[in-house]
Amino acid sequence: MKPRVGVSACLLGQALRYDGASRPHAWIRDRLPEYAEIVPFCPETGAGLDVPRPAVQLVRGDDGRIRVCGVDDSRLDVTAVLQQWIRQQAPELQMLDAIIFKSRSPSCGLGSAPLFDGDGKLLQADFSGLYAAWVQMNYPGMVLCDERKLEEKRYQELFLSWLRKKPD
Ligand code: SF4
Repeated sequence: MKPRVGVSACLLGQALRYDGASRPHAWIRDRLPEYAEIVPFCPETGAGLDVPRPAVQLVRGDDGRIRVCGVDDSRLDVTAVLQQWIRQQAPELQMLDAIIFKSRSPSCGLGSAPLFDGDGKLLQADFSGLYAAWVQMNYPGMVLCDERKLEEKRYQELFLSWLRKKPD
């Protein structure tokens, strides 16, 4: 049985981004399926957000809580719908061996998403998106990476060698 790898669906060419664009990662889309069963996911459209949709970003409020709010309209707050989708992912996550996240996304970014304060000032450039942070916290043994690592051939080989070694 092939290992199961969750992949941010936009990396497979699915046009689910906020701007409706398709940004496939050629190696993930074309090569990885030879070695793994691909399980696409998209927190934002999974949570019912439209394509296209207003761009959102991570914001730390005065109460210290992290929220996902509109870039142009800070009154837009999609945190609750994203959290609802995230809570439903536990059964699917139990079936995965690894996840490849889209970098810089407020939902999927893995240590690469910018975090702002309520006035739009950048607080941190290497935060994790809402879903990626939840996976990091709740599934510490899961192999996680983003597409930027997999630009490099040596990391592609490393990732594949890990998949090959994984016991059935
Ligand atoms: S980065 Fe994540 S939330 Fe955004 S389109 Fe891709 S899969 Fe969906």
